[in-house]
Parts: sequence; C-alpha cells; structure tokens
Amino acid sequence: MRILLVEDDLPLAQGLQISLRHQDFAVDHVKNGKDALNTLAFADHDMVILDLGLPDMDGLSVLKAVRKNKSAIPIIILTARDSIEDKVQGLDIGADDYLVKPFNIDELTARLRVIERRLGTANSSIIAIDDVVIDTLAHKVIVNKQVLNLAKKEYMVLKLLMENAGRIQSREQIESHLYEWGEEVSSNAIEVHISNIRKKLPEKFIKTIRGVGYTVES
Ligand code: CA
Repeated sequence: MRILLVEDDLPLAQGLQISLRHQDFAVDHVKNGKDALNTLAFADHDMVILDLGLPDMDGLSVLKAVRKNKSAIPIIILTARDSIEDKVQGLDIGADDYLVKPFNIDELTARLRVIERRLGTANSSIIAIDDVVIDTLAHKVIVNKQVLNLAKKEYMVLKLLMENAGRIQSREQIESHLYEWGEEVSSNAIEVHISNIRKKLPEKFIKTIRGVGYTVES
C-alpha cells in the first residue's frame, strides 16, 4: 500500500513517514497543495493523508479538485480543526475519514487498514488462505503454525496478493504499491521477491498467470 502524505509540518511529516514505513506502508511526501495535485495527476498512490492547513491552498480545495477530476482515491484528512462543521464539510466534499490533531498513530494506522480492506477483498486484519495466515495488525505470516521470516518487501508483496485474493496483480501494479520515490528498483525486483517468498510458502500458493501477473486464489 502506497500513501501520499500532504503535510507542511516537516517534523510531523517525518515522524509519520517513519511510523508508517515501520507499519509496512510505502509513503511519499509533499509539502503543499499544488505538489499534491501534480503528483496525484500522474503517480499511482493507493490513498492520501491530507493536512487542511497548507501554505499555498486550503486542503479542502485540494480535496475538491481531486474529486472534480473523478478520482476516487481514498483520502483521510488530518487537521487541527475540530469543529463539527469542519468535519461535516470535509466528509461532504468527499473525504473518507477525518482525524483531529494531535492524533494517536495507532488510530491512524487502524483507519488506514480499514481503507486497505475496503480496497481489497479481505474483510478482517487476519486473512487465512489454505495453510497460510497473514495477520496485518501484528505484521506476521504464519504457515502451519510457524511464523515465517519475511523481508519487508516480501511481506508487502504477499500482503498485497492475499488482501486481493482472487484478483491478478501485474508486475507493474505490485511495483507501484511497494516502492517510494527515489527507491532503487531493479527490473526483475518483483520476480526476485516472488521467488524468495515461494521458497517459504506451500508449493503453488502464489500462481503465475503467464504474461499477466500473479495471484493468490481465494
Ligand atoms: Ca499544516
């Protein structure tokens, strides 16, 4: 899951990036509304965390512009404004959720997981398919009661496939969910991750759809 964080408070943004990366999200950061809109026009993020008090424009205007372009990308508003009117306005314009600063990081990540589930096919933080169980709250994968030792990116790939069980993910799609700006991606990175994960999982758990991508059957 790749997030665009729009926040002009740099210490807060850095802290959030660290916390969210620790929770296995990929996070790109922009500091103002214009950069947010330019980014969303071209990049491939799964959701947006949007501050309302931005230096160049109001976050609500960013939200309006995104929705006007018919983008349905999930947006969580982060703001110091806590009046009911502000919340209602944000939600009415098309925000998916609303968190008032100061907020608890666990609450933010819980809400991100809710959106993640809505985007995927799973309906709980624990997904069990055949003998493989992924607990997205504890960040653990368990196979036959043994906890697997997966590298961060391997975990992210498996999580994406299991959260979208029954759907096919192309190599490009997987890549865009995993890597932040500036991260080096080798041309066969996804193949390498998949091959490493397969060594640790039951045979044929991840299926290759030739010429299309990968899938886990639900
Ligand atoms: Ca701000």
